[in-house]
Amino acid sequence: MSTNCNIPAITPDELVKLGLKGITAAILECKRCQLHENATNKVIMRGAETPKVLFIGEAPGKNEDEAGIPFCGRAGKVLDELIAYMDLKENEYAIINTVKCRPPNNRKPTQKELKTCRPFLLAQIELLGPQVIILLGNTAEQAFCVSALDWGEAIATPEGKHLIKLYHPAALLYRRSLMEKQREMIDMNKGLWQNTR
Ligand code: SF4
Repeated sequence: MSTNCNIPAITPDELVKLGLKGITAAILECKRCQLHENATNKVIMRGAETPKVLFIGEAPGKNEDEAGIPFCGRAGKVLDELIAYMDLKENEYAIINTVKCRPPNNRKPTQKELKTCRPFLLAQIELLGPQVIILLGNTAEQAFCVSALDWGEAIATPEGKHLIKLYHPAALLYRRSLMEKQREMIDMNKGLWQNTR
């Protein structure tokens, strides 16, 4: 085990001072949890640096680990379908994950791993500054530390952002019947990103 448990905790505020490039460098060097041991590539973000909408997924899978790009496999194609349905332009969205290294056998990240990687997540959110944060599934919700959200129901944060929980694209791969419900939830909320154009 090469994880160094004695590494001092790093705070989101310290990371924000580094800027997005500095955070990328810090993630690339990070060995704060055991997930780094199996990672081929750290998977940091894709999309705009000033997005209106930020998608937060669970964790990198096999394709993402190999390419170092979030949502580039089959679930990524489903997410791209949803992004097209939302009518978001290239410069209006970004995608990140709760943890930046692939968990072995695509298992869910543990609570400890989520907690250890959370400063990166929070600092990315702060720097990207989206108006709408879409949590893709329950793990993203847990990582964000909010109490149980209702699917598709937007809540406002004290910072004036909107949080929405939608189904993870991988769930839609296996249950295409959920796609209609996902589109209804998007339709209910589309004013949040379309009215500000
Ligand atoms: S998952 Fe996050 S905290 Fe764990 S090693 Fe990777 S970057 Fe570091």
